[in-house]
Amino acid sequence: MTKQPVLHIEQLKTYFYLDDKKTAKAVDDVSFSIYPGETVALVGESGSGKSMTALSIMQLVNKPGKIVDGKIYLHDKNLLTINHKQIATIRGNEISMIFQEPMTALNPVFTIGSQITEILRKHKKLSKKAAHDKAVDLLNMVGIPRASAVMKEYPHQLSGGMRQRVMIAMAISCEPKLLVADEPTTALDVTIQAQILELIAQLKKRFNMGLLLITHDLGVVSEYADRVMVMYGGQIVEHTTTDQLLHNTKHPYSKGLLTSLPHLEKEVDRLGSIKGTVPPAYQFPKGCRFSTRCPYVMDACKKLNPPLKQIKDDHFVRCYLYEDEEELV
Ligand code: SF4
Repeated sequence: MTKQPVLHIEQLKTYFYLDDKKTAKAVDDVSFSIYPGETVALVGESGSGKSMTALSIMQLVNKPGKIVDGKIYLHDKNLLTINHKQIATIRGNEISMIFQEPMTALNPVFTIGSQITEILRKHKKLSKKAAHDKAVDLLNMVGIPRASAVMKEYPHQLSGGMRQRVMIAMAISCEPKLLVADEPTTALDVTIQAQILELIAQLKKRFNMGLLLITHDLGVVSEYADRVMVMYGGQIVEHTTTDQLLHNTKHPYSKGLLTSLPHLEKEVDRLGSIKGTVPPAYQFPKGCRFSTRCPYVMDACKKLNPPLKQIKDDHFVRCYLYEDEEELV
């Protein structure tokens, strides 16, 4: 693995300014890096800020949302300092995204072939014939049978799994440096889920891409991720290697999430299911954002939000329970 990250994010803040003068801090002071060939998982319940982090990287945050602070480097280029035209060139070319529901990314009125060749002609300036041939190659690469015939078909003629394969073909068509996959298998049958995740893992290896894998499923994390960031209330609450997260879990929220992994239950303090839901991003409690649901809450937790502290070389936790462990660094 090279020292230079493909993606480096510093203190990213994406806020929504709501009509009633409230501010929803959807992403609040998030920092991390992804290296070529590495899979980093972002996990948490819905509403924790995972998808908004991905949309911020892609510069696809819609109003009233806005990136208000931070830096997003793709290699040495800060994406927050370049213009819309330059971003449009980078998106789909150097960074690609796979969405949960392929129909949101596929246009129902154009054939599969025209949608893939359009990307290749736009970003790679290929001739019509070369783009067509490359598109057939891509469909073969993602395991679509009868690739030439599928080129002439429309998205609704394909199954959900095949549509997701088409979207993956489109996402990798320009061999991006970074692939962002937002719950790429949630909408699919269980048997198809494993095939799609395996396909994404193979392609990541083949093109040495950095992969940001967004999921609520720690089973997927244990199988595919090198590192994991657990997100809650718009912030990273635990960031470490997959092995550390699964076997030396620290944050009470991460421990709660882990109870959904049956074979690991013996190895963590079982909390049972986490009570309650993620508070809306305009209504976080004072102090620790998890304090309203945390079984270990103390008085100090209700006063100030804890910082993300390094407790080991590769382990960061946002929780007052580990205040003393910073001395181990
Ligand atoms: Fe729980 Fe307090 Fe840690 Fe927050 S800081 S996770 S409330 S123990």
